[in-house]
Amino acid sequence: MSFSSLVQDISFRDTTPSAASEQRRQMARGSSSASTIDDHRSQMSRARSYASTSATSVSISGDIASQLHGGYSHPLARTWQAERQLTKSMLILPLFITDNDDEETLIPSLPGQYRRGINKVVPFLEPLIRKGLRSVILFGVPLGQGVKDALGTAADDPKGPVMSTIRLLRQRFPQLFLVADVCLCEYTSHGHCGILRDDGGLNNELSVDRISDVAIAYAQAGCHCVAPSDMNDGRIRAIKLKLIEAGISHKTVLMSYAAKFSGCLYGPFRDAAGSVPSFGDRKCYQLPPGGRGLARRAIERDIAEGADIIMVKPASQFLDIISDAKDIGRNMPVAAYQVSGEFAMIHAGAKAGVFDLKTMAFEATEGILRAGATIVVSYFTADFLDWLES
Ligand SMILES: [Zn+2]
Repeated sequence: MSFSSLVQDISFRDTTPSAASEQRRQMARGSSSASTIDDHRSQMSRARSYASTSATSVSISGDIASQLHGGYSHPLARTWQAERQLTKSMLILPLFITDNDDEETLIPSLPGQYRRGINKVVPFLEPLIRKGLRSVILFGVPLGQGVKDALGTAADDPKGPVMSTIRLLRQRFPQLFLVADVCLCEYTSHGHCGILRDDGGLNNELSVDRISDVAIAYAQAGCHCVAPSDMNDGRIRAIKLKLIEAGISHKTVLMSYAAKFSGCLYGPFRDAAGSVPSFGDRKCYQLPPGGRGLARRAIERDIAEGADIIMVKPASQFLDIISDAKDIGRNMPVAAYQVSGEFAMIHAGAKAGVFDLKTMAFEATEGILRAGATIVVSYFTADFLDWLES
């Protein structure tokens, strides 16, 4: 209501029957002899009272739903508006483990991220765990000559970088939740996520059999969670059955990369993990970016096959899919992988002066939480441990 219409409203109230009868009561009591000053004071007081009553009635009769500012003016009240607030325990830090034990090499396309040999992992993690790091996900990066073959044999080599690091971290940091990414692409000579047929396509049956063996080996080495990222049909069921058979299903979380989309955001990761396919691409097994219905079917299938956590990857470009995953898997945790390209883009934007790095890292991650995820795999994890402290 505008000020002029409020004044009109007050003058209208001045002549309302209730105001007139009040005047008549005052005259009957003999108060009509009150001084001019008293009359003036009384009018002022009435005006204030009318204004207040009028403002209240404006809100009640008209537009109270428009009054929102009060709910989020204080910084703490602002955080209460979020359904989920980012906490340290939601974050999983990706680690690239090479087979050169003493290596510590900066990955040029992933600002501040390194490939590390097993001897460098504990000194790197110690200060982060003191700051509240709760979980890491391990990716093996075999760099030795002749390590890769058509079957990805090195993936579950007990002396390989991933299995050695699982054993070491379980012993050094018993409270740290260990996730092992399960795939063959880092270990196959052709760089694809499974075993190939003669025509170059994936042999689904052999791939699932091999990948489920690798998952069991990682779980038996001591990781708390196996996360198959290969996208072969039926691998969740195969892994779950083998975990049951091995008697470790009760203590191993099965996190499925259920909705993993193909696209250009994995470039820096492939630099880091050395997993660029030597021919072709992964479009026959990773989802097409427009395939929302297909993603919903993949999520439904993986839940039915025994997944304990559903993951969506990438994250920020697929917030609708995260929301779908939360809808379909409403009784289970949903994870999102903020992939290397998303991380690199935020760094590039900040470096170009487009926005502040920390502000955008929070905005992007809070968007992922708002969509429905409660677990975020993020290269910003180490930064967030500091940022969430201040
Ligand atoms: Zn793969």
